[in-house]
Amino acid sequence: ERTITTQQIKDVAQEAYHLYKDNTDGKNADYIPYLANIDPKLFGISICLMSGEIIQLGDSQYRFGIESVSKVLTAILVLRQYGAPKVLEMIGADATGLPFNSIMAILLENDHPSTPLVNAGAISANSMVQPVGNSDAKWKAIVDNMTELCGSTPQLIDELYQSESATNFNNRSIAWLLKNYNRIYDDPDMSLDLYTRQCSMGITAEQLSICGATIANEGLNPNTGKQVFDKSLSPKITSMIATVGFYQHTGDWLYTSGIPAKTGVGGGVMGVMPGVMGIAAFAPPLDDAGNSVKAQLAIQYIMNKLGMNVFNGH
Ligand code: GLN
Repeated sequence: ERTITTQQIKDVAQEAYHLYKDNTDGKNADYIPYLANIDPKLFGISICLMSGEIIQLGDSQYRFGIESVSKVLTAILVLRQYGAPKVLEMIGADATGLPFNSIMAILLENDHPSTPLVNAGAISANSMVQPVGNSDAKWKAIVDNMTELCGSTPQLIDELYQSESATNFNNRSIAWLLKNYNRIYDDPDMSLDLYTRQCSMGITAEQLSICGATIANEGLNPNTGKQVFDKSLSPKITSMIATVGFYQHTGDWLYTSGIPAKTGVGGGVMGVMPGVMGIAAFAPPLDDAGNSVKAQLAIQYIMNKLGMNVFNGH
């Protein structure tokens, strides 16, 4: 049994920041015009501890597109609204081993879309959000849930929303293929629009670290002191993140970093170390699976240097 001090975490985070600050590997997402134009030099790290203390470096207050990290937040919302068994039945919690935007995710299993953490299952999750049939009220539920998890309200980046709505042809086909297999539980176009809007939310690394910390802290937001979701849901959501958070690179990620984490093509990564911390890093250039290069390097460095690993139970 050894304890890691807050000072050690601060020091190691600072080392990681300076080590990778000038790394120029990877490339901004280019299939969404807004993301192609974000400054590739932006780089921020934020760590929120169970005490509520937050360690921040670099551009941790920059608002970037949350993109696929939002899938975790809406998965939590449907877990809150339906309970864990129903979400397993209606969507699932499996690995896909496929890219985030794969239409194959729908066809992999006969009875459900596999997981709410890839596009297909995330569009299904948006369709499940209650009250079904009411787009405005569903959107309010999504934003309220994000606010509770992050400790403050993320803001829609309208330009990103427009940019993504105008170019999301692949996701449109996913929504309608889900409809074909009875795996969407509300209007497909409405569900897709809600999904696109939630992906276009502007979020800071600080907010994402608070969300990660809330998951790590059994649903109790350490920043606001509010119990956001039932503590029984915490291992459910963390297991989903561990299983598919990096899509086809999830195994490699877990093997090298030791922390369940979820990525987004906006350049954000949110990690959950149960009982210890939420950690977020943000840098726009991505690898070939759409995962931020510098965010991965920074989180890997911090975990390894601290000797922290979810599979060591510490
Ligand atoms: N909104 C993006 C999409 O649907 C999210 C992808 C991602 O972050 N991996 O393509």
